Amino acid sequence: MRVGVPKEVKVHEYRVGLVPGSVRELALQGHEVLVETNAGAAIGFPDAAYAAAGARIVPDAATVFAEAELIVKVKEPQPVEWAQLRPGQVLFTYLHLAPDPAQTKGLMDSGCTAIAYETVTDAAGGLPLLAPMSEVAGRMAVQVGAHCLEKEAGGAGILLSGVPGVPPGRVAIIGGGVVGSNAARIANGMRANVTVLDRSARVLQALDIEFNGLVDTVFATRDAIERAVLDADLVIGAVLVPGAAAPRLVTRDTVARMRPGSVMVDVAIDQGGCFETSRPTTHAEPTYVVDGVVHYCVTNMPGAVARTSAVALNNATLPFTLQIADKGWRRAAADNPHLAAGVNVHAGAVTHPAVAQALGLPL
Ligand code: NAD
Repeated sequence: MRVGVPKEVKVHEYRVGLVPGSVRELALQGHEVLVETNAGAAIGFPDAAYAAAGARIVPDAATVFAEAELIVKVKEPQPVEWAQLRPGQVLFTYLHLAPDPAQTKGLMDSGCTAIAYETVTDAAGGLPLLAPMSEVAGRMAVQVGAHCLEKEAGGAGILLSGVPGVPPGRVAIIGGGVVGSNAARIANGMRANVTVLDRSARVLQALDIEFNGLVDTVFATRDAIERAVLDADLVIGAVLVPGAAAPRLVTRDTVARMRPGSVMVDVAIDQGGCFETSRPTTHAEPTYVVDGVVHYCVTNMPGAVARTSAVALNNATLPFTLQIADKGWRRAAADNPHLAAGVNVHAGAVTHPAVAQALGLPL
């Protein structure tokens, strides 16, 4: 199959649909890969690396869209991109169609088959193409939180690890799923004093076994959350209620009672945020202060570490990309129900029940 990779056009998006290692795997399977010039240059993957992996470098996105049967991207297509898609062509990327009727109509009008990373499933009931970005955001949350605790960043001037003779900082992580458990690993690795709060007994048990007492696990009642937050130097919000906005678990009143210079990182901000004082921020201006407490609420945290994120995403998407390229999307989806769950739009219609329901469209 002819597989195409355009350079991402969304502002500040440096990730790329296929990294050179993935191109090589596709080429070894006998597929032809077209890559737009400079598609990965911003994250250290120059055209020469793609050419060495077996890609044909093409001068513009128009050539990719005109020639490729399968387009692999990262972000949802922008209007200039969906205008170039056509019937019979397959698009494999993040789509997030439920809140986006304009993009949905663009994809329906194009006649293409659009397969969304975020609705591909796995045998454990998880979302394997979302998980890598949660791993990145969870690990990054501790890194940015540690930085915000420094004086120059508005923080209290606390080194999370402590030093001999000075106790470590205290980290409270609300939600112990993919983001929260990854945050716990990094905070624990930095020798901070870590508490994870969750409402799932299974999640708390797994963390207890993994950390063997090095991390405290607490059932997340409002009372327990309030106590942990007031005790913490760094609070990380990492809850998710599937299909719903994040619950507001920390009130404005509690924030007002925290120690000045404490830090709150709301990773759940892309679902509305789990602190009452949260509002979305960007990498250009990631933090703001409420009642002396530094807030970091960037909605696309993985974008700051685009190289790591692109490779992590490729590790998860490549098996599916290979299945689509080897068999064609129809047979690949018939053979693999988890890939079939990713098909959101086909031949002018929305085919994913939850997406159709969210947009009020017939299936
Ligand atoms: P997950 O489903 O793996 O984990 C969520 C956890 O929250 C679960 O363990 C669940 O039991 C727990 N939870 C739900 N309600 C709770 C409550 N009331 N109190 C305590 N715990 C509760 O989800 P995830 O992959 O870890 O994602 C967490 C959030 O991070 C999501 O909103 C996701 O969209 C977001 N996220 C944001 C970024 C970003 O750049 N800001 C990047 C990746 C993920």
